[in-house]
Amino acid sequence: MNRAEMIGRVHERSEPWDIVVVGGGATGVGIAVDAASRGYDVLLLEQHDFGKGTSSRSTKLVHGGVRYLEQGNISLVMEALKERGTLRQNAPHLVSNLAFVVPNYDWWEAPFYGLGLKVYNVLAGRYGFGDSQILSHDDTLSRLPTIKTDGLRGGVVYFDGQFDDSRLLINLTQTAAEQGATLLSYARVVGFTRAPDGFVDGVVGVDEKTGREIRAGAKVVINATGPFADGVRRMSDPGAAPLIAPSQGVHLVFDRSFLPGASAIMVPHTRDGRVMFAIPWHGHTLVGTTDTPIAEPTLEPTALDEEVAFILETAGRYLHRAPTRADVLSVSAGIRPLVRAEGAASTAVLSRDHTIHIDPSAVLTVAGGKWTTYRHMAEDAVNQAAMLAHLPERTCRTATLNIHGFHPHAEKFGALSVYGSDALAINDLMRAHPPLAQPLHAALAYRRAEVIWAVRVEMAQTVEDVLARRTRALFLNAAAAIDMAPEVAHLMAVELGHDAAWERREVAAFAAVAQHYRLA
Ligand SMILES: Cc1cc2nc3c(=O)[nH]c(=O)nc-3n(C[C@H](O)[C@H](O)[C@H](O)COP(=O)(O)OP(=O)(O)OC[C@H]3O[C@@H](n4cnc5c(N)ncnc54)[C@H](O)[C@@H]3O)c2cc1C
Repeated sequence: MNRAEMIGRVHERSEPWDIVVVGGGATGVGIAVDAASRGYDVLLLEQHDFGKGTSSRSTKLVHGGVRYLEQGNISLVMEALKERGTLRQNAPHLVSNLAFVVPNYDWWEAPFYGLGLKVYNVLAGRYGFGDSQILSHDDTLSRLPTIKTDGLRGGVVYFDGQFDDSRLLINLTQTAAEQGATLLSYARVVGFTRAPDGFVDGVVGVDEKTGREIRAGAKVVINATGPFADGVRRMSDPGAAPLIAPSQGVHLVFDRSFLPGASAIMVPHTRDGRVMFAIPWHGHTLVGTTDTPIAEPTLEPTALDEEVAFILETAGRYLHRAPTRADVLSVSAGIRPLVRAEGAASTAVLSRDHTIHIDPSAVLTVAGGKWTTYRHMAEDAVNQAAMLAHLPERTCRTATLNIHGFHPHAEKFGALSVYGSDALAINDLMRAHPPLAQPLHAALAYRRAEVIWAVRVEMAQTVEDVLARRTRALFLNAAAAIDMAPEVAHLMAVELGHDAAWERREVAAFAAVAQHYRLA
């Protein structure tokens, strides 16, 4: 995962790659892992950092989606439940089993949700995470000590998967690299090249760090740019009809005291008929989400005041102490790359299934889906791409491929458990250089060694890369992350050989981005 070495490979190569992937989110990186592990030559280009888009902004659930069961999309639920089991098997250091409690305030809720959640579990079959159960009033309270008790009858508990989205993404980039893929961050695709027959036969990009042009020939190009997919399609087919209906979702993070137990809350019907979760995550409480159609995707979307108010109001209906804007430690917004459907009343009803679309220029676009199903999406996309490019047929290997960091008992590494087997090397680093064991901030469990690790091993290029996606500081506590930025910049500058001016620029750039994560 050395960027200079990777970019060298790109500039040196004269023959076309088997597959060039545009976009370094869950979909694109999943494709790079799949294609490289089949033995294809793969190049992936991401315009910013890996995971800068939607894939670092999810609800952090590896789930079948109870909501899709209610919508009757049984095949999606079954596929996602299977993928949930596969992901826990291949990345146990990042996927854990979490109890979700649906609190009941009406007499009909326990039998209704109890039955629905039994079906959910039956659909999971051998990939199940645990039996759902009806809870008494007292059992509900012991799992959710901060739940509102007025009218509380009891609850239903069920089990689903939880993960750290950008940590999984970084581990997937490492897996892809280990399988032989070349992956570049800060490499924006700006156009395509065409063969004499008119079909796209490569990409033109810009190295955002140097301004130098990147040219890469390809037997097939896969557009995996999520919410940005239509913009990229229009680079080759200006008249392409839109495929994506972008929809924004917001999360708020509070301190742990709002949800001190080990269980999450699942609200099956908010005022606008959606589901909402309150989840314990990295010692904090994550609450969301919303579903707001938007016109154009941006890389740093901003939560709307009404979205924040809606989440606060819904949380206040269920939590004994209603959170206020002053309690929000971090607010983030992400954009779902939903596939359009004619006549849909809202983006909330749009299917979370994925779609593969081949434009007349032969660019293959894969969009939609969910983080949970990224592996299956990648398998489908590579199968289609291999056919389109007449690549030799090779079987997908990812169902049983361990993801970088694989460790069956990573919880024993405490705050470093998200690194899985890499925690051993980070511990060695701290033992060899004790100052690196110092915490970066009293409010968060991150240490200096993690900055060094992110730069040396995980291709972090900027302070934001470290504070937003290698650690999750920005998503947990934006003010603390801003405080941490100067020290992180200094550690990075020493490691990368940058000067004091670089540190100042990085701190200023991070502060500007971090404003999106604070409520004014
Ligand atoms: C609020 C919210 C909550 C969610 N919660 C869950 C959940 O709990 N569980 C779940 O399974 N799913 C969840 N999802 C869905 C899941 O996060 C997405 O389906 C998934 O992350 C999409 O990944 P992607 O790779 O397709 O898109 P992205 O992650 O957005 O990746 C696309 C990438 O393409 C890059 N790009 C764009 N243009 C170019 C260019 N010209 N050149 C190079 N690169 C380019 C972008 O920078 C971006 O990094 C949630 C989504 C949202 C919005």
